[in-house]
Amino acid sequence: MTVKANLATIQQDIELACQRVRRDASSVKIVAVTKYVSDERALEALEAGITHIGENRVEEGNRKWNVLEGKGTWHFIGTLQSRKVKEVIGKFDYIHSLDRLSLAKEIQKRASKKVKCFIQVNVSGEDTKHGISPTEVINFIKTIEKFPLIEVVGLMTMAPYVENPEETRQYFRKLKHIQKDVQALQLSFAPCMELSMGMSNDFHIAIEEGATFIRLGTSLVGKEI
Ligand SMILES: *Cc1c(COP(=O)(O)O)cnc(C)c1O
Repeated sequence: MTVKANLATIQQDIELACQRVRRDASSVKIVAVTKYVSDERALEALEAGITHIGENRVEEGNRKWNVLEGKGTWHFIGTLQSRKVKEVIGKFDYIHSLDRLSLAKEIQKRASKKVKCFIQVNVSGEDTKHGISPTEVINFIKTIEKFPLIEVVGLMTMAPYVENPEETRQYFRKLKHIQKDVQALQLSFAPCMELSMGMSNDFHIAIEEGATFIRLGTSLVGKEI
């Protein structure tokens, strides 16, 4: 399937999910996750009208960024080691995986302008997942005030993989609740307007629960490598 054909189907699904909860479909942005696919396929996504590209590895992400000449808006969605921050700053516009103080420090040290960050939250509490525990999010965000080059644009989570996507709803709903708590603080450095949640198998549920960025790999560009 072409990316264009996949995108048309996905846009219909987004539209339907939005109708179910009376949201405007334009409030949902698609990040095409190109980690499984070739440069050509990533380029095809851009040509199909995709503007947000997501990669989860520093070397591969940088390589693709160079090949595609940085076209579009780039999202770093994977675990980020502090020593690699300098390699993503200036290329990736968004970092979805801010989950510890040492990483915040390093971003502050390497950035020359504001970096849009999502706080990654481990809503499900699985040991294998990265992210801050829900009870610690508020305190963590307050400490970000010390880092003027970090803007907390939102929260990100990965739901557990389950057969029945309906079971992911509770995690997305929880992230939305945490977002409301953060917004109530009215911190200028943490507007927290965005929710990065939902992948190929569960994005329709995430949208019903308030996702503003959905991260789609398999269903949109496929899985080649
Ligand atoms: C790979 C990945 C995705 C996309 O996964 P699909 O199920 O292929 O849509 C989304 N988010 C993160 C953080 C990923 O690593």
